[in-house]
Amino acid sequence: MRRPFIAGNWKMHLDRGGAVALAAGIARRAAEFPSVDLAVCPPFVYLDAVGAAIAGSSLGLGAQNMCAEPQGAFTGEISAAMLTNVGCKYVILGHSERRAIYKESNADVNRKLLAALAAQLTPIVCVGELLSEREAGRTKEVVAEQFAGSFAGVSAEQMVRCVIAYEPVWAIGTGKVATPEQAEEVHRDLRGLIEVRYNSGIADQIRIQYGGSVKPDNAKSLLSQPNIDGALVGGASLKVDDFLGIAAGAQS
Ligand code: PEP
Repeated sequence: MRRPFIAGNWKMHLDRGGAVALAAGIARRAAEFPSVDLAVCPPFVYLDAVGAAIAGSSLGLGAQNMCAEPQGAFTGEISAAMLTNVGCKYVILGHSERRAIYKESNADVNRKLLAALAAQLTPIVCVGELLSEREAGRTKEVVAEQFAGSFAGVSAEQMVRCVIAYEPVWAIGTGKVATPEQAEEVHRDLRGLIEVRYNSGIADQIRIQYGGSVKPDNAKSLLSQPNIDGALVGGASLKVDDFLGIAAGAQS
């Protein structure tokens, strides 16, 4: 049985006070959702303060990106060890904004993934097609290519420590949510790819989140699909009630 996992990607929003208040507001009520794992992923500069605000609660801390290199002359970068040092358990990798704006390739995501695993972080690896790719009937192929490239060289023992987020790019921040059936189809395909590469036992364990305009009013219909194990939430993660409204949709 896979435990639902709802993570908030705060992107480049909030100031220090707002980040701490949001985190504390979620942490205070996190115990109302005992059957769901919850995490927030604030900007790097607020990780420490948010970590302090959620200490002692069941809310997990994650980062939105990291450097593949362990240390050294990489101006402006943050290593996996730095993330664990400030209390991160999770790191989002290969978000579509990083792929599109910063030109991160599957090979880049793969290097970061291996570094995150080596540092005992739980990576949340994002995959998903563009609208033009969906319209050309290439969704399955694109997602399979992202999976193969991003997870190259990942052992079975490492794979079970990963989370995948299926985020159709056309649904991110647009208010256009994939239908539960559209999302479920891709989640099923992804689990099939894991089964082919590893085995069915491993495929059954991996949590696959859906991301793309998830809100409290559409969460339950998405999260009740058999292969949708949680959500990676952008906009709706910036309000305590909205984020926890989504968590309520995952609560059994
Ligand atoms: C995201 O950025 O990962 C995301 C899913 O954003 P939104 O929920 O705003 O569509």
